[in-house]
Amino acid sequence: KANRLFHPDDTIIEVNGRKVGEGTISIIAGPCSVESEEQIVSIAKSVKQSGATFLRGGAFKPRSSPYAFQGMGYEGLELLKIARKATGLPIVSELMSLEQLPAFEDVDIIQVGARNMQNFILLRELGKIDKPILLKRGLCATMQEFLMSAEYIMKEGNDKVILCERGIRTFETATRNTLDLSCVPVLKKKSHLPIIIDPSHGTGLSWTVEALSKAAIAVGADGVMIEVHNNPEEALCDGAQSITPTQFDSIMKTLKKYAEIENKV
Ligand code: PEP
Ligand code: MN
Repeated sequence: KANRLFHPDDTIIEVNGRKVGEGTISIIAGPCSVESEEQIVSIAKSVKQSGATFLRGGAFKPRSSPYAFQGMGYEGLELLKIARKATGLPIVSELMSLEQLPAFEDVDIIQVGARNMQNFILLRELGKIDKPILLKRGLCATMQEFLMSAEYIMKEGNDKVILCERGIRTFETATRNTLDLSCVPVLKKKSHLPIIIDPSHGTGLSWTVEALSKAAIAVGADGVMIEVHNNPEEALCDGAQSITPTQFDSIMKTLKKYAEIENKV
């Protein structure tokens, strides 16, 4: 179902009036994790002002260490909804396990993180709901495996899958991951699904975000996901790769020169 052979036209996914994959660039911006009402509302207002399409914020965090901040959980989702109400930006958040699904009913886009890309039971259940799924590429997944995970969701009937390249594990240590921009033309050739690039997790380095966002547009991606934090140095998660709202505003001004940003004021 994800194969372009059987579905030649690009898939366009509509989320509250915004269209992902229609030729404009969708920008998903926000903190790695929701940390407080004040934090998420203030970031939401800034990124909205700069022209973001969607607000992101993790409530359930898949951390490598069990002692690291695990996210605010259900309360985090409620704070995201407050930020949505304050700005009108649709919200994106990661679901880690099926028991959380009822709480995501009112979340606009459900993210499946890299670590769950091959959680086939989870994918199958997300295939039974009618909601866009942002599927992130696994840390060591080939493009074919990535597409097969999309297929798990689509096989059950949910064809609203947005692919997200977020960097893969290689021998390189200068960056957190290796952002594989080659997957855009290759996946576009094989599949009709929209593709978003996440340069923040791709390199783990905030100063690379602008260059790689421009590159994502140049290579034909349908959007970019950028981590934005009001105070990256104090962020509870992924501060080193997060940019400030001011830096985000400047990057948005640059990106607008290269492409039309998907928006609904
Ligand atoms: C995230 O988006 O904050 C995240 C945890 O992403 P990934 O699954 O790509 O590591
Ligand atoms: Mn993160």
